[in-house]
Amino acid sequence: IKDRGKDNLIVYDHSMEEDTLKRVILDDNIRKALANEEFILQYQPIINVKSGETVGFEALVRWHHEQQGIISPAEFIPLAEETGLIIPLGEWVLKTACLQLKEWHEKEDSRIRMSVNVSVRQLQQRQTFIQTVKDVIEETGIDPQCLDLEVTETVLMESEQDIMDTLQALRELGVSISIDDFGTGYSSMKHLKTCAINTIKIDRSFVSDVTHSNQSRAIVKSLMLLAQQLKINTVSEGVENEEQLNRLLSENCQETQGFYFSPPVSAEEAKRFIK
Ligand code: C2E
Ligand code: CA
Ligand code: CA
Ligand code: CA
Repeated sequence: IKDRGKDNLIVYDHSMEEDTLKRVILDDNIRKALANEEFILQYQPIINVKSGETVGFEALVRWHHEQQGIISPAEFIPLAEETGLIIPLGEWVLKTACLQLKEWHEKEDSRIRMSVNVSVRQLQQRQTFIQTVKDVIEETGIDPQCLDLEVTETVLMESEQDIMDTLQALRELGVSISIDDFGTGYSSMKHLKTCAINTIKIDRSFVSDVTHSNQSRAIVKSLMLLAQQLKINTVSEGVENEEQLNRLLSENCQETQGFYFSPPVSAEEAKRFIK
C-alpha cells in the first residue's frame, strides 16, 4: 500500500510496474486537473525579422499543479497522448487560445495570428476534429485566417493519406497549417509537394548551431531556399542570441521565435508585444 495523502490510497501488488503506477496516478491527475481548470496557456511571440514586429503568438500549455508548481508540457503531453486525454485537453487549448486571440483583436485592434499545437491523436479523429475547429471558430468569432495549426513533422509520417485529407479539410475552413520541428522527420519534401502547407518551422536543433556548424548552416540555407521557391513561410525556432539572428537574416529567414525575443509569457505580459 502506498500512502498518497489522507484520502488518497492506492493499492498495488509488487508485480505492477512502477511505470504503470506512475501512469495511473498521472492519468488520474490530468483528468482532475482538467476539471479543476489547472491548465494555463502561455504565449510566445513570433517576430517578423525584417520589420521587428510581432506577427503572432504560439500558445503553449502548462500545468499549474497545486503542490508541484508549474509542470512542463514535455512531461504530460506524451502521456495525455497515450491515454487519449489530449483530446479534451487539446480542445481546451484551442478554445482558450482562440478566445484570447479574439480579445486581442478587439481590444488591441490587431491582426496578429495564433498558432496552436495539434497532436496526431486529435488529427486521427478526423471529422470530430474538423467539427471542433469549425465550432471553435464560430463560437469565438475569430477570423479563421488568423488561426494557425501546428502539426509536427513526425505526425505526417503516420498515416499518410488520411492525415493529408484532414489537413486539406482544415485548410478549407480558412485556417493555415504549419509543419513543426521541420527537418527532424523523414518525408518532408513529399509533404511540401502534396499538401497545402503554409509555414515550416525550422527546428531549434538547426538554429542552435547555425553559427557553429557548417552542416547546420547548409541545411538552414537550403530550407530557406526551398521554402522561398515553394512560396512557403518560414519560422526559425529557438533563436537565443543576436549572432544566430544575424546568420538567419543573411539566409533570408522571414519569421523567428525564441528566448532572444521572449520566452513564453502570460497573456497579460504578451500584450506589450502587440502593436
Ligand atoms: P514545440 O511546439 O516545439 O514548442 C517550442 C518549445 O521550445 C517550447 O517549449 C518553448 O518554450 C521552447 N522554446 C522557445 N524558444 C526557445 C529558445 O530560444 N530556446 C530554447 N531552449 N527553447 C525555446 P515548451 O513550452 O516546454 O513545450 C514543449 C513541447 O510541448 C512543444 O514543443 C510541443 O510539442 C508541446 N506542447 C506544448 N503545448 C502544447 C499543446 O497545447 N498541445 C500539444 N499537442 N503539444 C503542446
Ligand atoms: Ca509548436
Ligand atoms: Ca517546434
Ligand atoms: Ca519540439
